[in-house]
Amino acid sequence: MADYHEMWAGLGLDLKTHDMLLEIVGKGYTDVFLSQKNRPKGMEYFDFVMSEVHGLRIKEILDAKAEGRKVIGTYCVFVPEELVLAIDGVCIGLCAGAEFGFEEAEKFLPRNTCSLIKSAFGFKLGKVCPYVESADMIVGENTCDGKKKAYESFKDIVNDLYVMDLPQMKSPEGRSLLKAEYKKFAQRLEEMSGKKITVESLKKGIEIANNKRKAIHRLSALRAAELSPISGLDGLLANQIFFYDDPIRFTNSVNAVCDELEVRIKEGVGVFPKDTPRVLISGCPMAVPNWKLPFIIENSNAVIVGEEMCTGERGTQNLVNTNANSVDELIDNIVDRYFQIDCAVFTPNPGRLEHIKEMVKKYKADGVIHYGLQFCQPYQMESKILEKELETAGIPVLLIETDYSQEDAGQIKTRVDAFVERIQK
Ligand code: SF4
Ligand code: SF4
Repeated sequence: MADYHEMWAGLGLDLKTHDMLLEIVGKGYTDVFLSQKNRPKGMEYFDFVMSEVHGLRIKEILDAKAEGRKVIGTYCVFVPEELVLAIDGVCIGLCAGAEFGFEEAEKFLPRNTCSLIKSAFGFKLGKVCPYVESADMIVGENTCDGKKKAYESFKDIVNDLYVMDLPQMKSPEGRSLLKAEYKKFAQRLEEMSGKKITVESLKKGIEIANNKRKAIHRLSALRAAELSPISGLDGLLANQIFFYDDPIRFTNSVNAVCDELEVRIKEGVGVFPKDTPRVLISGCPMAVPNWKLPFIIENSNAVIVGEEMCTGERGTQNLVNTNANSVDELIDNIVDRYFQIDCAVFTPNPGRLEHIKEMVKKYKADGVIHYGLQFCQPYQMESKILEKELETAGIPVLLIETDYSQEDAGQIKTRVDAFVERIQK
């Protein structure tokens, strides 16, 4: 990697702490990803992206800013990228997956806050995230209570926080609220960028986002093959990079991996031996560099064949229909897509159970491992309902409750080993 210290200093990063973070992430990446055998050649692109995640990509984002484009940071898959693309903006996911700056974060948040929220605060307070520092506007959303209340303090430590209200029920009133919020957001984007969202620009934004999702759908479908042509870790990595990379380049790179996987399937090449137990992971999102549980699973002689999470199929399923003649109609189509996201903050949330069952069938999973972050009430509570329903339907389930620390890795490994033995054919 080139020397980016000057760029990082310009963004106000704490260079010493940031160097430390990069070293930890780099080592974790080498241990978790580069140690895998028989990876598709196309994954080299993703290795490159990860090696430059705070370097070249940030430079590109700063260049875009210099051209007058706006950078919008988000924490939730409910924020419609299409609208950001329609003002020629850059949309980046800001969720963080490392235990970093928690002590500082706990000056603002109760100790019993989930790691995802603490990490967002920790990265900002520790001045180690060039994405947060590059954003012209950060979008929060009223989803779980933790996030909703956390944004009340977050607004004091970041520039220009915009909080979007979101429905909690899949009712006609809920849909209307979502539409009203998306229209308000569109207006805010127009004001800050000085660019008008037109039918043409919005259709273009929708097309870019749809293509990105189509490429991921293609990748997911290939993971259904009897001999998995790609590891779950690499599948997850593509889903995580979905939030950072240039969308068009990302789409092309995922499609290139898919071309290679199609050949592998035809030639009967897999990354794990035949009859390796197949696992679907489900639950809270896993932000970079949160690879603990998938690493444990794939080192316990099982392969992950899908992710029912926001860094996975919950975040990428369904496309936006481009068939419309006005911006208002296009926003309706955007609402139609996003309103189907079955996040556990909705009540009731039967769609998620159905989606998990569908995924188990589609990807021929032998069991489901549910990943719930400690202190995450929506997913923890829902996991009990899911466990009961799935076990009744004959689908074995393992509930894992964890955080971002490595302390429980040994204990989790023992439980995953026992589960893999249970689902072994
Ligand atoms: S889990 Fe829910 S709140 Fe979190 S990113 Fe996904 S949709 Fe948003
Ligand atoms: S993991 Fe759970 S508690 Fe944490 S932000 Fe997401 S929904 Fe909220």
